[in-house]
Parts: sequence; structure tokens; C-alpha cells
Amino acid sequence: VKQQGGNHYTFYTPTCDHELSERIDLEVALRYALEREEFQLYYQPQVSLKTGNIVGAEALLRWKHPQQGMISPMKFIPIAEETGLIEPIGEWVLYQACKDSKAWRSQGLGCLRVAVNLSGRQFRTANLRQKLVQVLLTTGCEPDYLELELTESLLIRDAELSIQQLQALKALGLKIAIDDFGTGYSSLNYLQKFPFDVLKIDQCFVRNLHNNKINAAITQSLISMAHLLNLKVIAEGVETQEELDLLNEFNCNEIQGYLFSRPLNLEEFQALVKSGR
Ligand code: C2E
Ligand code: CA
Ligand code: CA
Ligand code: CA
Repeated sequence: VKQQGGNHYTFYTPTCDHELSERIDLEVALRYALEREEFQLYYQPQVSLKTGNIVGAEALLRWKHPQQGMISPMKFIPIAEETGLIEPIGEWVLYQACKDSKAWRSQGLGCLRVAVNLSGRQFRTANLRQKLVQVLLTTGCEPDYLELELTESLLIRDAELSIQQLQALKALGLKIAIDDFGTGYSSLNYLQKFPFDVLKIDQCFVRNLHNNKINAAITQSLISMAHLLNLKVIAEGVETQEELDLLNEFNCNEIQGYLFSRPLNLEEFQALVKSGR
């Protein structure tokens, strides 16, 4: 309890205090995480339903905090967004992912594309296009092996501007995926206006597909609609054979999820790809 003079008191509950100091600690640690090399990219395989082969991977950022161990991106990405740290961190992610994807091809692991998540702030950075050109040139990664994942809610905020930015990025030759599709509020009309290549169906629709008629109907119609618009469909969070069977029946193109593999570190991912060929 702090006395502010007179009879006015401000109360801080212990939990708030604790949360605030924890948040500040994380923020400080996050500032040093890049130079201390505490970040790592994990790769989750994306598998073609037609061939059963791994055709790409989503890069997922991991932070190994020196005291606290692994911290979820759900926890630190929002802090990185608010503080602007997402810009250097996001650039590191892009560079690392392109470098790894290029190495897969040079090592004869196959033509695997890599998908990278972009945050809202990163997407709106004026020089994102320039940064991407730089990363592609220095890593030698061919642009058509790079896919950028953007969420629906991020793009809807300023649709006209988003469309322009997407077109500028696509002109580089890379691919654009709409992530977590179905969880935002965009209409089909919107979807048609954006230059996407891939639609990722959110795991909340995929979950228990076989026991949930509504989710099954939504998933099936999302897939047909995406195909009408010439988009490739990836279903996320596939955990069971039953889910997979229905996705096959609905002509989904690719799957990603624990059923096939959890996100793996670089060595594990490469070993998995090698073992399958
Ligand atoms: P997301 O892009 O929707 O990524 C999918 C999340 O689902 C990942 O969580 C992944 O590990 C998890 N997942 C995959 N398969 C399954 C499954 O079968 N079942 C279940 N229950 N979960 C599954 P993760 O790695 O914790 O990442 C969480 C979120 O953090 C991501 O959601 C993404 O929004 C964000 N994120 C991760 N890496 C980056 C990054 O490099 N940059 C940015 N801006 N955001 C990132
Ligand atoms: Ca994603
Ligand atoms: Ca997702
Ligand atoms: Ca998500």
C-alpha cells in the first residue's frame, strides 16, 4: 500500500505486482535474447495427403530463457510486438528459416519449402520488402520456397493497405498463406480480394472432426471454397487418424499436426526427412 498524501491510498494486489514484475523481467531478458543466442527455430513437417511425403515445414520460434527454460511464443511474441523487439527478432527468424531451407536443397534433402509467421507489426514495417530481398539474396533461398503466414485478423484491419503490401511481397516470387483461417470475422468476399496462395484451416475446426458435425461441415465447405479460389489447403493441428481420414475425404491438400510429428529441432527434422526417403 502506497500513501499518496492526504487520505488517498492506492492498493496493489500481490498478484498484480507479481505479474507486472514478471512481465518486466521477461521484457528485459527478451532484449538480450538475440545477442545471447537463446532463440531456436523448430520445424513442424507439412505432409502432402496425395503422396504422404513431407513437402515443407512451418518454422516455430522457441526461446530458451537462461533461468526459466522454454517460454512459449504465445507468451513472448506479444511482448516483442509491443516493445518493437519483434522487428530484429522477426528478421532473425526469416534469415534462419531461409538459410535452413536453402541448405535442405543443397544437401539433397528435397525441395522443401519453409513457412514463416509474420506478426502484424512486421507486416506493416515500411521496409519489409527490402528486408526480404536482402534475406533472400544473402541466404540464396529461392523465393518460391518461402511462404509467409499471416493471420486473418491482422490483414482485415486495413484491408486496402494489406492488399497492396501483399502484392508487393508476392511480386518477389514468394507465397502467402492465410493462417488460423475461420477464427476471424472476414467474409468470403474478403478472401477473394486478397492474393493468397494457401489457406490454413485452424485447429479448432480440425479437432474432433469425426464427432462434431458442425466442424466437419465447416471444414468441408472451407476446403471446397478454397479450391474454387485456387488455393491450396493445409489443415493444422491434426492429432488423430479419424481426423486425417475425413480430411482425405474432403480433398484437403496437406496436413500438419502431432499425428505426423511435433515441431522438431533442425537436426531432428532433417533426420526425419532423411529416414522417409
Ligand atoms: P500458429 O502459427 O497457429 O502455430 C501453430 C501452433 O500449433 C504451434 O504452437 C504448434 O506447435 C501447435 N501445434 C502444431 N500441431 C499441433 C497439434 O496437433 N495439436 C496441438 N494442440 N497443437 C499443435 P507454438 O509453436 O507454441 O506457437 C504458437 C504461436 O506463436 C503460433 O501459432 C504463432 O502465432 C506464434 N509464433 C510462433 N513462432 C513465431 C514466429 O517466428 N513469429 C511470429 N510472429 N509468431 C510466431
Ligand atoms: Ca502459423
Ligand atoms: Ca495457425
Ligand atoms: Ca494459432
